[in-house]
Amino acid sequence: MARATGDAEKTDAPAGAWLGGLRAATRAIVDYALPPRCPGCGVIVGDDRQFCLACWSSLDFLGGPGCTHCSIPLPTAAPGGAVACGACLAEPPPFDGAPAALAYGPVARTVALRLKYGRRTGHARLMARLMARHLVVAGETDAVLLVPVPLHRWRLWSRGFNQAALLADELAQLTGAPRDHHLLLRVKPTASLRGKGRGERERIVAGAFALAPDAKARAAGKHVVLVDDVHASGATLRAAARVLRRSGAARVSALTWARVVPDAAGGNIFDFASLDSDMQSERTTG
Ligand SMILES: [Zn+2]
Ligand SMILES: [Zn+2]
Repeated sequence: MARATGDAEKTDAPAGAWLGGLRAATRAIVDYALPPRCPGCGVIVGDDRQFCLACWSSLDFLGGPGCTHCSIPLPTAAPGGAVACGACLAEPPPFDGAPAALAYGPVARTVALRLKYGRRTGHARLMARLMARHLVVAGETDAVLLVPVPLHRWRLWSRGFNQAALLADELAQLTGAPRDHHLLLRVKPTASLRGKGRGERERIVAGAFALAPDAKARAAGKHVVLVDDVHASGATLRAAARVLRRSGAARVSALTWARVVPDAAGGNIFDFASLDSDMQSERTTG
């Protein structure tokens, strides 16, 4: 069943959230009664939450050498060495690494959309499994604090759950790393970033986030790992990371299911402007 997160659900969530929960529960029952299907293409597979061979083979796993700041793959970089990509040399981002399980492609996109809009909340476990190795590789789960990118309460009410919070919950279960859903607050509803240029995106998300009043006590000295589903333009992640830096965290990174890798995003498969995690197509709350 979908879990609502944030302070909103504890107070007066309207009928939309209940209906969302009911739909998710119905979906869970239907899922239970039907044979397991590939989350990428829907063909029947042997085990629940497994990809078929064709979809699995098409996934572009990330994790090789990359930019120290934004984790974009840099195949020629020496593993483990500090290196910056051109964009980060020009303007370092406010996070210390932005690893993702996968390069954004058709299957990664389908799974993310089915979680967010298709309410296939069970996909969060599968996604977190592939994301978790980026936490485990760091070898420091004791010091990690998982912080999902929060939704504004209006959007939380209309959707009934926050997909980033579901991912953080699953990551916490898989790795034992603690999570904090309320360290970062979404204090301003934001308009869709669709089709906006970089400067305008940054302006739209500026001021969208704030720290919880006691954030310093909870995050000081920790490696705060922002968790979200998709890293596209990164405007939302940068805005969130800038605010988290004020918490006294020793490090702030951004872990996602899939990220747009410019070289991998050629062709017409991707509508780059529609990918940012802020671009929930069902509603504009600005
Ligand atoms: Zn498949
Ligand atoms: Zn970079």
